[in-house]
Amino acid sequence: MSAVCVLRTRRVLRQVFPGLPAAMQRHYSLDVTAPLLRTQGYVDGRWVSAASVFPVLDPATGQEIVRVTDCGPAEAKQAVDAAYKAFHSWKQYTAKERSVLLRKWFDLLTLHKEDLAKLITFECGKPMRESLGEIAYSASFLEWFSEEARRVYGDVVPSPAKDRKILLLKQPVGVASIITPWNFPSAMITRKVGAALAAGCTVVVKPAEDTPLSALALAELAEQAGIPAGVFNVVPCSREKTPSVGEVLCTDPLVAKISFTGSTATGKVLLKLAADTVKKASMELGGHAPFIVFDSADVDKAVGGAMASKFRNSGQTCVCSNRFLVQSGIYDRFVEKLGRAMDAELRLGHGSEPDTTQGPLINTRAAEKVVHQISDAVSQGAKVLKGGKRLDGSFMQPTLLADVTTDMLCTKEETFGPLLPIIRYQLFTLSDVITSGFDAFLYSIIHEAR
Ligand code: ADP
Repeated sequence: MSAVCVLRTRRVLRQVFPGLPAAMQRHYSLDVTAPLLRTQGYVDGRWVSAASVFPVLDPATGQEIVRVTDCGPAEAKQAVDAAYKAFHSWKQYTAKERSVLLRKWFDLLTLHKEDLAKLITFECGKPMRESLGEIAYSASFLEWFSEEARRVYGDVVPSPAKDRKILLLKQPVGVASIITPWNFPSAMITRKVGAALAAGCTVVVKPAEDTPLSALALAELAEQAGIPAGVFNVVPCSREKTPSVGEVLCTDPLVAKISFTGSTATGKVLLKLAADTVKKASMELGGHAPFIVFDSADVDKAVGGAMASKFRNSGQTCVCSNRFLVQSGIYDRFVEKLGRAMDAELRLGHGSEPDTTQGPLINTRAAEKVVHQISDAVSQGAKVLKGGKRLDGSFMQPTLLADVTTDMLCTKEETFGPLLPIIRYQLFTLSDVITSGFDAFLYSIIHEAR
């Protein structure tokens, strides 16, 4: 399929929602064309089709951008076989040869950064400025590993026996299955693949179902860079096909290693699958980071840090702070300044609008999860100070919740959205303990820690 299959996306607002600019009624279309806009899988250096296709949606409009080949277990197996075959020659390349090819790939990403960033913005909803940042970040892994490819040194270890020598040689393990998330659809691939290829391994990439276009554009540029057939393979697939494709990638005996970034629940499934053939595994799983403000903090700096840490990619990064613990002495000032910063700095809209800072969430399920956490908190006494509502499609108002307690869901599970819950805490002094009684003190500690 080529660029002619790109469907025009038109936003039709059923109602104008507060918080979404009127400009959202504009027409948005992705103007990236072939060869960077690819819609087939990439196996053994060829673009391949399968029996069916699945739609890729613009999360800001809900409209279909394009349809992509829905690879199944058969295509995944072909990709593993191709990667295994290619491994035998790729591992024989000198470090310098691999380095040169990775460097060319880096140069091509840099050359096409605008178009690659547009692909991210349209398939993942990220504001263009963040998408351009991701491409620079994504390319930097190829640059880094093109240099590190030459430094895979061994070691000589003093032997405990006179008639023995101990030499440590580092060798590529073989085929690596790479399963990546949608929130960094380019960088999560190059971070894993750059290292694997530099070491002499070959890979099969399964990108997230929401964001296959960035992965396929990387395949196009890998080919242009001269990376040999079978070294880098991409098998895009729908949510329905994901478990069967994942099973091949995590159980096939020809696969030596799996590398995954995503939810803890999925990570556990993949580890179980990989256990039977005792594969090596690297897992980067969910987070639940606290942001702690003490009375002694510089409130402006704390607010700046909270804004940066919470609202990047609309709260959809694994390092976004999830729960905010603010000491009682600074609580009111922090909350008041944070609310003002949210009003001043956050602009909802389509990621291709220059002043957008907050795009949509990746899909409606993601928005529903945030809504659920907000209503759970409100039902238990939290106060909505800003936002609190779901807007059109998967847009969520950036939300500030006060009077949050550790009984609420948003302080127990990862949100992955623009929800900022604030918990007030106090530190106890010795005189507090003496005046309130030791039992009450212990109760408070246990309650806070829950
Ligand atoms: P999220 O819920 O944020 O999408 P996931 O962990 O489900 O996080 O998704 C991260 C990646 O894991 C995506 O590429 C997704 O398709 C993939 N994935 C989810 N379930 C499976 C599975 N059973 N086998 C292989 N990959 C999976």
